[in-house]
Amino acid sequence: MRFEFSTATRIVFGPGVLREAGPAARQLGRHALVVTGDPPRRAEKLLDLLAAEGVTATVFAFAGEPTAEVVSTATARARGAGCDLVIGFGGGSRLDAAKAVSALLTNLGDLREYLEVIGRAEPLTQPAAPCLAIPTTAGTGAEVTRNAVLASPAHRIKVSLRSPLLLPRLALIDPELTYDLPPALTASTGLDALTQLIEPRVSCRANPLTDNLCAEGLRRVGRALGPAFHDGHNAAAREDMALASLLGGLALANAGLGAVHGFASPIGGMFPAPHGAVCAALLPHVMEANLRAARLRQPKGETRRNYATVARLLTGDTTATAEDGIRWVRALVAELQIPGLRTYGVGREHVAPLVEAAARASSMKANPLPLTADELADILLQSL
Ligand SMILES: [Zn+2]
Repeated sequence: MRFEFSTATRIVFGPGVLREAGPAARQLGRHALVVTGDPPRRAEKLLDLLAAEGVTATVFAFAGEPTAEVVSTATARARGAGCDLVIGFGGGSRLDAAKAVSALLTNLGDLREYLEVIGRAEPLTQPAAPCLAIPTTAGTGAEVTRNAVLASPAHRIKVSLRSPLLLPRLALIDPELTYDLPPALTASTGLDALTQLIEPRVSCRANPLTDNLCAEGLRRVGRALGPAFHDGHNAAAREDMALASLLGGLALANAGLGAVHGFASPIGGMFPAPHGAVCAALLPHVMEANLRAARLRQPKGETRRNYATVARLLTGDTTATAEDGIRWVRALVAELQIPGLRTYGVGREHVAPLVEAAARASSMKANPLPLTADELADILLQSL
């Protein structure tokens, strides 16, 4: 056995911990670039907390997904203002943008030099400027991952900036920030969290540390995602989901993902669809395909055992089988009103190019076992 584990330097979790953001920021810098959503109203409380500690703030708000242009513009703004700290406040897109800006503040040159696929994938060499990540959704775990997903509309793909140097200096997770998330966003982000706990748990790169993180997260999603969807102010359910999201981020950053995310990346680049909803539409079909492939090509049956463990954690039933787990996921996806991929414009004509792109995606390498092009095409057809 050999494994590595790395994460954010410091993690602070709990209802109300946002109020610690001011003093924590004060320890990391004097002038923060606050990367947040547009309109930036929701960050007002954070700005008050920073002001109370004498931390100057320059706000950079953007809507939609971060692109290379957004990150370059934000970096120029931060440099011009003399920022020595970057704070991401929002969902995964805001946090990823903040992480990318913190790295570019110290690693000079054009962002494209460091991007995979569309750039030269040069490694980042200088430690990033301190980054404080404060998620306001419960799903991506981006506060503890070491990549930043950026959209490239010109290429219709999403690419990652990847480096251990992207790990934030501080992840501050306050479940209270998720109380007002509308049900549709609770569903899509929560199902991303679920996927990011199942995929690392069955991954061929899993290790005992990540397995245990996934187990804790799966138990919590199992009991909390339905209740959080139906009643956003259910404090216990929101706390469970915020923690499950964090655990998923810790697990995926160290054990990788699988075929769901292998497909979600090219689909997200080509179609305007919420990442979590895409994952949810694919998830039961990927579980089925992996189980079928394992039956055919995995004599020791470790993948079947792993999926049975997932099923027991999600259902709380100690006799649940791998198939029961798939049924449970299917029922939850229906309860949370997640449509098929056709809703976002994906059709039969896109199957061949998406299979080709998914087969090359980095997440695919962590799938429990390699899937054939026919198996991948079948997953996509089932998910339409
Ligand atoms: Zn995801």
